[in-house]
Amino acid sequence: MAKANSLYYANRDPFADFTTSPEISQVFGELLGAWVVVAWHQMGAPAAMALVEAGPGRGTLMQDALRAIGRVAPACRGAIEVHFIEMSAQLRREQAARVPVACWHEGLSGLPTMPAIFLANEFLDALPIRQFVRRERGWVERFVAGGQFVEVAADGPARVVAVGSIVEVSEASAGWIAEVARRISAYGGAALILDYGSAQSLAGDSLQALKGGGPVDPLLEPGTADVTAHVDFGAISAVARREGAAVWGPVPQGIFLGRLGLWQRISALQAAHPDCGAALNEAASRLASPARMGALFKVLCLADPKHPTPPGFE
Ligand code: SAH
Repeated sequence: MAKANSLYYANRDPFADFTTSPEISQVFGELLGAWVVVAWHQMGAPAAMALVEAGPGRGTLMQDALRAIGRVAPACRGAIEVHFIEMSAQLRREQAARVPVACWHEGLSGLPTMPAIFLANEFLDALPIRQFVRRERGWVERFVAGGQFVEVAADGPARVVAVGSIVEVSEASAGWIAEVARRISAYGGAALILDYGSAQSLAGDSLQALKGGGPVDPLLEPGTADVTAHVDFGAISAVARREGAAVWGPVPQGIFLGRLGLWQRISALQAAHPDCGAALNEAASRLASPARMGALFKVLCLADPKHPTPPGFE
């Protein structure tokens, strides 16, 4: 999965295969920008802070967030250094066109040691998972060989599930979250993780591949489709707590955006652009309606335990 995705992101335009929240409406990035301003105040308004985005895609979320921050809180904008974690050279070029002030990194280790707010929208779902299947005689792990799944006896997770069940484990996501939580504990800050997945660890196969807007077989032509899995918010919350961070949520995306003022912002834009009224409504409903992205997508916050309740998690 890691190999297929690094090939995929290095060579293709992922936005031909799927659409993400920041690409649906500018309001998404603007609301997260407003969230950053409040979080910065909760951190004690440090004079210098890193705003780190992992997997920024086209750079749209950061562009919209920085514009909103500069408008409502110039002092916060002045404190921010923008850092991007991105492995794709092609996407780095797109990001540079929208956010030329950013610094780029391969991973978390190169980041400066300073207070930081981390943003990650649809990043963790792209990190590799392992799949274990409970068979009569014990656990097996699914590997890929000769273009198909093969099962190999393995030490499985310490969980009791029905025979035939699949349990997914993402060591890459756990390792990433642990490092972010350690940085928050050491230097101060917060992280906002937005992705699709479940609040508790569920059994089941969530591996999926998307190409041209529709599902395809993940083993067919690896590297030509976006391969993802659902984020296990229960598992990553436990890792973050173990590393000393306070954990808030997960809250369904629709509720979170509503609390941050989604509909007020949509009304303000409609008043300024009456011809776009229906399109603005449609975009907001796509982001927030439970039948669309509002419930499957969830928002988790990691923060310094000394901070008050972050916005959207009341
Ligand atoms: N956040 C963006 C893009 C989501 S697509 C949006 O919401 O539109 C996933 C992003 O994560 C892409 O930018 C991809 O290149 C990046 N990515 C995936 N795996 C990565 C890894 N292991 N290290 C760094 N970036 C990665």
